[in-house]
Amino acid sequence: MPLLLLEDADTDGHAAPGHPESPARLRAIAAALAADPGLARLPRVAAGPVDRDRLRLVHADAHVARVEAASRGGGAWFDPDTYCAPASFDIALRACGAGTAGVEAVVAGRARAAFALVRPPGHHATATAAMGFCLLNTLAVAVRVAQRELGVGRVAVVDIDVHHGNGTQEIFYDDPSVLYTSLHQLPHYPGTGRAGETGRGRGVGTTLNCPLSPGTGPAGWLAAFEDRVLPAVRGFRPELLAVSAGYDAHAADPLADLRLTTDTYRTIATRLAQVAGETALGRMLWVLEGGYDLAALADSVAATVRVLAAA
Ligand SMILES: [Zn+2]
Repeated sequence: MPLLLLEDADTDGHAAPGHPESPARLRAIAAALAADPGLARLPRVAAGPVDRDRLRLVHADAHVARVEAASRGGGAWFDPDTYCAPASFDIALRACGAGTAGVEAVVAGRARAAFALVRPPGHHATATAAMGFCLLNTLAVAVRVAQRELGVGRVAVVDIDVHHGNGTQEIFYDDPSVLYTSLHQLPHYPGTGRAGETGRGRGVGTTLNCPLSPGTGPAGWLAAFEDRVLPAVRGFRPELLAVSAGYDAHAADPLADLRLTTDTYRTIATRLAQVAGETALGRMLWVLEGGYDLAALADSVAATVRVLAAA
């Protein structure tokens, strides 16, 4: 099958009043997919909790214990942006479970691509800290499972969220087996992702940051993508392409100032599918990150899914 969707139908328990990272995000996506008969028929798997041992491939035990205790204890705020409700830990475990089930399906050849439509997002979560709406780093856990348990060697990560994925960068910063690339607005939260951040130790050269000025539109974004990110991914010869799929670089998004359109996301998906076909046997794992205008998010995810299902 070309595309497997991994979904969590019940994230209502991860919510805080007025917070933009809300359960309505996944409901809007589900409604957009259900409204298109071609997409409504796509194979789906319900997210189940990740094997706790797999979290240890990325996260310190103390971090996981802290999130679990905060959640079971009735909820807490890790910083002014990042909440944890009583159900949040279980929902974050299911997000990671969706990512790992997706990568298992792709590596086993049961699907060419998998898209984990889950929340909370993950790319700001470091090995030891929750931040930026993120509790556990869903994509990083899936990448490590691919490498440590499924025999995958090199993995390229393309982070298209408008915010720099500081957590993912840090987790893989000294690791030459993972190429981390990101296109993001700078200056903006979290403040990392300057062009000079290129890796550490044996990992020097396997981090590529493309900071973009506020107001950058499709032409400027796609120029960096075509001229810098895609050649780096091709040159890395990954065995798996993992995409941190944030949709908050859309012009309609309330949290940032880039100017992408739904059509840009269609182009991004088309090009990434092509490059994955050239270098990674077509194997792709997409993990939902941000995207806070509900209509733009739902339309852009549907556009992405349409491309991946036809690839
Ligand atoms: Zn974001």
